[in-house]
Amino acid sequence: QADVVPQAPEDPLFGLMAAFRRDTDPKKVDLGIGAYRDDNAKPWVLPVVKMADDRLRNDPNLNHEYLPIAGLADFTAASQKLILGGDSPAIKEKRVTSLQTISGTGAVHLGALFLAKFYKLNTKRTVYFSNPTWPNHFQIFSNVGLPNQTYPYFSKETRGLDFEGMINTLQNADEGSIIVLHACAHNPTGVDPTQEQWKKIAEVVRAKKHFPFFDTAYQGFASGDLARDGWAIRYFLEQDFEMCIAQSYAKNFGLYGERAGCFHFVTSPSPDAQSTVTRVASQLSILQRSEISNPPAYGARIASLVLNDPKLFAQWEEDLRTMSGRIIEMRKALRGKLEELGTPGTWNHITDQIGMFSFTGLSETQVMKLREDSHVYMTKNGRISMAGLNTHNIDYFAKAVDKAVRE
Ligand code: PMP
Repeated sequence: QADVVPQAPEDPLFGLMAAFRRDTDPKKVDLGIGAYRDDNAKPWVLPVVKMADDRLRNDPNLNHEYLPIAGLADFTAASQKLILGGDSPAIKEKRVTSLQTISGTGAVHLGALFLAKFYKLNTKRTVYFSNPTWPNHFQIFSNVGLPNQTYPYFSKETRGLDFEGMINTLQNADEGSIIVLHACAHNPTGVDPTQEQWKKIAEVVRAKKHFPFFDTAYQGFASGDLARDGWAIRYFLEQDFEMCIAQSYAKNFGLYGERAGCFHFVTSPSPDAQSTVTRVASQLSILQRSEISNPPAYGARIASLVLNDPKLFAQWEEDLRTMSGRIIEMRKALRGKLEELGTPGTWNHITDQIGMFSFTGLSETQVMKLREDSHVYMTKNGRISMAGLNTHNIDYFAKAVDKAVRE
């Protein structure tokens, strides 16, 4: 039977990681990874995570029982406040239901599964992604049977947002399409709409009765300011949209492998809002039960301790500033060095873009040249993880780029 199963292609990102590991050159640079690295290119356990971990281990009442189907209640409640804002009317009016998920991927998946089963606003049920987007969006939504299309996002000319293209496509999409939006620090481009542009996007989404689905995997990681990074979602909330939110704690807590995340469904204000949310919650609970029964405890316990303790929370904000600050420094340094070298082209986009990634504008040929000649590893689309750069390799990298661009 199984001999009919075709070979699937290797995941490009994981293939890149394997190629990097095989390279024995001591100068090699890994700019493919989507995880924060410190100035010595080492994984960084956030000091606040160490503190929370110590507390957890010393808790005599800690056990390994199952969590409820919807996860740790203290964690999901704190997650709502974090993303929607502590004084959000949606929380006060009980218009939100939240489930702890297997990190951001699990949250996107739970939302996609829910929409596949219950989304009835438009019979085609097309999901729109930015072009480009996190490649897993395509797989997750296709796996639950929802068709997808893309809206223009990145302009090759300006290496910024193709705002007109995006708005035109959203305007011409069938009414009631599902629109996936990156809340901040867009992956892979590092390009975010301005607040004025978000307002216009909300206007079109409203006019066309589209359904917004926010993916937030980098809150606090983009600007170092949690409220600023949550601005787009909070603005859509103020506009009373019904929406899905997929929230990841992988990057902002450095809890990658612990798989801590949260899915939120928010409904619009109406006399029936609470009853709607209760019914939605009951269905989400069944979907969650059939997929994972209940979520993993450790990462959520760590995040929950931090989110619910003002002192730990303040330490977390400091850790976020450490990470986002180092990345911003690397952006400035890289742009400065390329401009100093007189590398052909413009490099302001390196500092204009934000978050973990930068879309350099390097072509696939240049990317491959960098890999072969200089042992620098990045995805073929020219995306680099800024966290892979540090004070020890940035000169080397800038010179390698300069060489590849001139050839
Ligand atoms: N969405 C986006 C846009 C991402 O970049 C990521 C992380 N690469 C995720 C979701 C989810 O990641 P995780 O499952 O590790 O939380």
